[in-house]
Amino acid sequence: MDKDLLTNLINEVNSMVTEEIKIMEVCGTHTQMIAKLGLRTLLSSKIKLLSGPGCPVCVTEERYIDWAIEILNRYNVTVVTFGDLMKVRGRKGSLLEEKGKGKDVRIIYSPLDIIDIAEKYRGKQIVFLGVGFETTAPIIALATKTAAERGIDNLYFLTSLKLMAPILHYILKESNNQIHGFICPGHVATIKGSDYFKFINRKYHVPAAVCGFEAVDIVAGIYYLVKQITQGKEDAFQNLYKRCVSPQGNTTANLLIDEVFNILDGEWRGIGNIENSSLQIKEKYARFDARKVFVLENQQVKVSMGCDCKDILLGKKTPRECKLFKKGCNPMSPQGPCMVSTEGACSIDYRYGEEV
Ligand code: SF4
Repeated sequence: MDKDLLTNLINEVNSMVTEEIKIMEVCGTHTQMIAKLGLRTLLSSKIKLLSGPGCPVCVTEERYIDWAIEILNRYNVTVVTFGDLMKVRGRKGSLLEEKGKGKDVRIIYSPLDIIDIAEKYRGKQIVFLGVGFETTAPIIALATKTAAERGIDNLYFLTSLKLMAPILHYILKESNNQIHGFICPGHVATIKGSDYFKFINRKYHVPAAVCGFEAVDIVAGIYYLVKQITQGKEDAFQNLYKRCVSPQGNTTANLLIDEVFNILDGEWRGIGNIENSSLQIKEKYARFDARKVFVLENQQVKVSMGCDCKDILLGKKTPRECKLFKKGCNPMSPQGPCMVSTEGACSIDYRYGEEV
């Protein structure tokens, strides 16, 4: 890390600001890096860095966790998932609690591992919980396609895959011009391309920049945005992560997504239904779709009382403005999804001791 460069950029940023500027990032990795660097304390107090819905676990609907537990209990399957989902609570508890009761729940680190698991345990039904954004979708699509090509008949996908553009449209409409700039997620842009985010400046006239994940990437993004905002350049857009992000993104990955998924409305935890915001497995691959193979309750559940995750995800509140923060809600006893995931704004604030 070039400390002199960072210090100079931060000083430049602080010298430009005369009135409050709110900048939102929508990526858990950006949230973590901002907290790790202590950027909120280094930047002028007039700059408010907000954490939007960039943590996939935080926006996964409670009903989804209920479905996973229901499949586990009713159908004697093996549930395979990433570690972050284990502690997320639905109406019927969490997968961690189910594992504690002796249920077969396993953690993996790559969706492609499930192909090996399904082939190794042919006598078992394996259900993979696939949660994420455009970044995760191609690898789940590849796993689905591979399962079809290899004739695997004991593997099912329970997915909750969300799209970043529709939720940003929602936030921009809801925010009523109260968010002045956006740091766009470099990971999603790697797949979808930088052009995917140009609606932010073109339609809503809010400056935006695609940023990478090094300290200097993020500070350079904030520098760029503050400069455009203070100069009144509402239509500014810049891809500052050109070493990984092209304007059109990764064609192979997008073809895989199109091959396996349809775009449909999606449920966002604490926020509600957002039009055309989720990826659902196409009819062609329906035999792998756990929602179609297993009979599931389709009941909507209430969001936990007292949890302000919705307002936090929409940039209207910070974690410390939630009355449960550190008072009944902590990583050991999370009351909402923003405290569960290591990429959640509340968890990051709790662990790094910095307001997110
Ligand atoms: Fe929800 Fe806990 Fe965050 Fe409050 S501190 S918003 S209860 S996750």
